[in-house]
Amino acid sequence: MAKYKCKICGYIFDEDNIEEGLNIPAGIKFEDLPSSFKCPKCKMSKAMFEKI
Ligand SMILES: [Zn+2]
Repeated sequence: MAKYKCKICGYIFDEDNIEEGLNIPAGIKFEDLPSSFKCPKCKMSKAMFEKI
């Protein structure tokens, strides 16, 4: 599965290894995350992530 990087702070969202405490169900695809998802580190919107 894919990884996505926050273009602002470099935070990596790894679909295979979703951090605990984010309130995100395991196994979800990044594209299926709600649009309310924000970078856990810098709070930028989902739109600021790019696939890596
Ligand atoms: Zn960020």
